[in-house]
Amino acid sequence: MTDNILTTASRILTEGPICDHCMGRMFAKLSTGLSNDQRGAAIKLALALEYDKMRSETSDDAQLKLLAPSSIYARKTLGIKDDDNKCWVCNGLFRHLDTWVKRVIAALEGCEFDTFLMGTRPSGLLIENEEILWAISGTRWAEPLKTEMNREIGKRVEAKLKKKADLKHPHVVVLMDIAQEIIELDVRSLYIFGHYKKMIRGIPQTRWPCRECKGSGCEHCNHTGSMYPESVDELIRPEVMRFTGAKDTVFHGAGREDIDALMLGTGRPFIVEAVKPNKRHIDLTRLAHKINRYANGKIAVSGLIFAKHSDVELIKQAKADKVYSLRVSFKEQISEEKLKSAIDILTQTSINQQTPTRVAHRRADLKRVRNVHYIKLEQLSTDGVSAVIELRCEGGLYVKELVSGDDGRTTPSLGASLGVEAKVTELDVIKIDGIFI
Ligand SMILES: [Zn+2]
Ligand SMILES: [Zn+2]
Repeated sequence: MTDNILTTASRILTEGPICDHCMGRMFAKLSTGLSNDQRGAAIKLALALEYDKMRSETSDDAQLKLLAPSSIYARKTLGIKDDDNKCWVCNGLFRHLDTWVKRVIAALEGCEFDTFLMGTRPSGLLIENEEILWAISGTRWAEPLKTEMNREIGKRVEAKLKKKADLKHPHVVVLMDIAQEIIELDVRSLYIFGHYKKMIRGIPQTRWPCRECKGSGCEHCNHTGSMYPESVDELIRPEVMRFTGAKDTVFHGAGREDIDALMLGTGRPFIVEAVKPNKRHIDLTRLAHKINRYANGKIAVSGLIFAKHSDVELIKQAKADKVYSLRVSFKEQISEEKLKSAIDILTQTSINQQTPTRVAHRRADLKRVRNVHYIKLEQLSTDGVSAVIELRCEGGLYVKELVSGDDGRTTPSLGASLGVEAKVTELDVIKIDGIFI
């Protein structure tokens, strides 16, 4: 037989009865504007006509017999019994689309979403049948059973629930397990972008499991499992979970300040990810208000807006200038004039920094080059042993080491320029400037 559509189709039918969907799917990429079942029915009709034509032209029984099973019409006239329910490929799956639609809608009950994506986990038997079918007919024009199932159910769910299918950013992925006849939902996270301020010292940005027990609880951590009783993350978390019905939250900050540094000014950009939320249409102004009330003056959030998954990488990679206010102490008394000329040196050249000793145990030992844009002397104490300065620099500059010099690992440094030991006693971030989302 030559490899045209009708001979391929009759070869498929020779294996046994096949539904219009499964027949049409083997030629899915050939014609546009038709669904697989319409295409399959058309092919079967053409086969029936072909058989009738052949029957009137030939008395060659052998040839007729060869073609007979390929035509529904012929099968009927020859008295070959077909159980219409029993497509040998899908076992009647496509006759039960409405049952699957009902299952999907029932599973989605109570889950708030605007967009969804269908997925199918075929049974082993269906996979085997499809492989046999493809071996017979070739895969050149075929589409997988999964694709048709997803599309057909997706169309019906869209119409019934007035929700949109979305391949790229679905709120929920609906997986149909054909063998078990169950639906699994993968509810995607909800992302909320905002800025936070930190008004007290001593709280880290994120949950910090106890170093001794790794979170299980021990004497060292007073059986809390944490190094610190609270964090920015944990102050934001409870209200986000309450508003969204999420199972958990994940905190993503645009960089982090030291535990003992305040975060002031306009605040630090962050994204809080609500994991498996069952509510998405939440009032973000009210959420911010509730978070701030819960945090009780320790932190405050502002400007909450909805964000996307891809924004997480964006804020993590965003290069932003930082403005710091720092209190510095000196081992010896210094004059204002001397301090001002030492400060000038820091802005006139790039700063070379080797990863600081204090973080070397958890960061790669790298050399980085950063710039300080300006340094302003705000105040020098009357005894000349401490000062408050404001500086603006590129993100990623270690400010404490810019002052201390870190035993020569940061050059130039304020201490080295002064020729006097200097260290930061208080450090606050007052502004983070950059384009986020
Ligand atoms: Zn079928
Ligand atoms: Zn512990």
